[in-house]
Amino acid sequence: MEIDRKFYGNNSHKMFTFLLMIMLTFVLAISAILFYLASKESPLLYQVIIMGSTIFLSVIAMLILLTIFALMLLWYNKKIPRIIKVIMEISINTSYPIIMTLGQLLKYDKNTIRGAYTNLNNQLVLSTKYSVAGENILILTPHCIQKSFCPHKITTDVYNCKRCSLCNVDKLLEFREKYGVHFNIVTGGTLARKMIVDIRPKAIIAIACERDLLSGLMDVKKVPILAIVNKRPEGPCVNTHVDLKEVEKAILHFIKE
Ligand code: SF4
Repeated sequence: MEIDRKFYGNNSHKMFTFLLMIMLTFVLAISAILFYLASKESPLLYQVIIMGSTIFLSVIAMLILLTIFALMLLWYNKKIPRIIKVIMEISINTSYPIIMTLGQLLKYDKNTIRGAYTNLNNQLVLSTKYSVAGENILILTPHCIQKSFCPHKITTDVYNCKRCSLCNVDKLLEFREKYGVHFNIVTGGTLARKMIVDIRPKAIIAIACERDLLSGLMDVKKVPILAIVNKRPEGPCVNTHVDLKEVEKAILHFIKE
């Protein structure tokens, strides 16, 4: 399936490249200072520590460069070698606190940075081919997708929904029936994790706000996740909805044809 850029937004790679370039500049500047200090006459132990730190920083600089290279490949829709993909995943996961701090210093909104992380994750998942049976795909969404006035308790059983079409639950149930995927509504991260342990999916489609999606992505490392940010026209956690075309595209990306 062709990668659809609209699925993950256009600006993530630019912001990440910019923040990574700043990180790289810092790392190179510190390495240069340490290298200069190591070249001066000083006790052996001192020199060993400085050289060790310089080598460590050089490895970090190399990882950042490879990540920037991978971002470029993603941007130009090129195939990414497996090893670079792994490096990028490690780099994205470990750099989060630094990127977040740096981004906030540069006045980026927190949700913009979180959204960019989920977008990058999606790009990596979309650049990989899958062939997963419907029964091994899990769609997870928070209960705020249900209309607040709806009296039916769908968190215990989604089929308590009366299919009135006033919220996305009806259509998501249709996807469940059409593709044979799991579809569950959860009240929080703990329940979401329990669902994942119980169902043991081979692919997950997660629908939530930027903060919850990122926390899920940081928690679940071994299962590919396509993360879809929900829409919140009435503010957070009430009467949210999702672009159903994105959900169906995500199913079609994972599912065995
Ligand atoms: S589709 Fe209708 S019945 Fe089903 S959860 Fe939404 S509002 Fe309730």
